[in-house]
Amino acid sequence: MKYISTRNKGYSVSAAEAISRGLAPDGGLFVPETIPSISMDEVRDMGSKSYQERAFVILQKYLSDFTEEELKDIISASYGPNFDHKDVTPLHFVDSNTACLELWHGPTCAFKDLALQMLPHLLTRSLKKCGETRDVCILVATSGDTGKAALDGFADVNGTKIIVFYPDDGVSNVQKLQMVTQSGGNVLVYAVKGNFDDAQTGVKKIFGDKEFAATLSERGYFLSSANSINWGRLLPQIVYYFSAYCDFVNSGNIAWGETLDYAVPTGNFGDILAGWYAKKMGLPVGNLICCSNANNVLTDFLNTGKYNKNRPFYTTISPSMDILVSSNLERLLFTVSQNDKLVSDMMKQLFSEGAYQVDDSIISSIRADFRSGCCDDTATKDTIRKSYQEEDYLIDTHTAVAFRVLEQYRKENDTVPTVVLSTASPYKFCDSVLSALGKNVENSLGAELINALHETTGVKAPEPLKDLDKREVRFTGVTEKEDMITVVDQFLK
Ligand SMILES: *Cc1c(COP(=O)(O)O)cnc(C)c1O
Repeated sequence: MKYISTRNKGYSVSAAEAISRGLAPDGGLFVPETIPSISMDEVRDMGSKSYQERAFVILQKYLSDFTEEELKDIISASYGPNFDHKDVTPLHFVDSNTACLELWHGPTCAFKDLALQMLPHLLTRSLKKCGETRDVCILVATSGDTGKAALDGFADVNGTKIIVFYPDDGVSNVQKLQMVTQSGGNVLVYAVKGNFDDAQTGVKKIFGDKEFAATLSERGYFLSSANSINWGRLLPQIVYYFSAYCDFVNSGNIAWGETLDYAVPTGNFGDILAGWYAKKMGLPVGNLICCSNANNVLTDFLNTGKYNKNRPFYTTISPSMDILVSSNLERLLFTVSQNDKLVSDMMKQLFSEGAYQVDDSIISSIRADFRSGCCDDTATKDTIRKSYQEEDYLIDTHTAVAFRVLEQYRKENDTVPTVVLSTASPYKFCDSVLSALGKNVENSLGAELINALHETTGVKAPEPLKDLDKREVRFTGVTEKEDMITVVDQFLK
């Protein structure tokens, strides 16, 4: 199986190279040259398998340059006791027609663990296959979830180091505590004076510094990123669409071959795109419902065919979906159009004008698989409260967006059996969840909020978030954005 660039389909590399490089040299994203197919018999066989075995079936189809043994090693290193549920991604049925896929049983309590617990193992093996002898140092600028998930994934993985920069005034208390108490001999966490943009710009500048790269190379290091455009982050996400389908059938609520819809809280379009790959492989997926918060650039795109990021940016209570440029959409545009020149031109337009328009044939083939909707913070909170009071089910702010959009969708459409993807534990966003339940949360610190949510609901806090305030704070460094490069330089001495 070869991978090609969305901006030059003549450029083709192995899976290991695609994962090692992250981005194609022309700035495009890597996509599989053809999407492998799966028969209904194979899907049915997956029904009696464990999550790890299901992952093996899917990964094997995409990573033909890895041996069976390598894949099994990668999978067992990624999904084990680090997840607090034996099913890894369990389904919780709200009613016989609606199930919630809990993707937050990993070490950092958000769905990014499914990809970031695996990426370090995929990446180090890929680098070895490509003859790379230097150690990789992952640089991350984070506004929250990604930083912690990357830290936890890369901690103590041989041949890697990781440095995470977070904005001094831009992450929640819980998120900050999660990062500064991170264990591992190869990790470093630093606050940057400024906002997320300052941290992000600083990291980009370090990546662009050729002289610094040469210095690091002499010391046996090179820099890489762990962001969501790497194929190695998308691939592990395809697995749970299959797994949820099998578990839905196993529950007796649908039969093999019947269609399921999936409602997905969406930001960078990575999670939902994994569902589209599952559908194109042959999983009986009906509609993929793309759910946005007030930053509804994708809702508008799916309605009009025009992608336009020239609009106000809203800071919402579902911050991981506060995104105006959904990078992974490029993969969909290319795969649907098969036109690399067109995709290049559209991405140039997005860069220069902040907008592009796709033609009718492209948007109508996209609409064959996707539906969309959005809601604001008031509706999100209302949904959290109703879910807790009426269904006795506590959900986080991102998951609530998906439930709300699904509710709107079902008012106008048939009620098809649906899986709602739950992307974070409610304990990760305690303040908003508590306030949705009518509690006053002003002036409370992270650890107090966790206790308050437990006292209010009786729902157990996930182990990794418990006693966060009692853990040793390992990282107290604060840097000016100009000095971020010195931080990296010192760490890699
Ligand atoms: C990252 C994230 C999302 C958005 O996922 P995308 O793949 O970027 O669409 C949704 N919810 C949570 C909690 C996240 O951390």
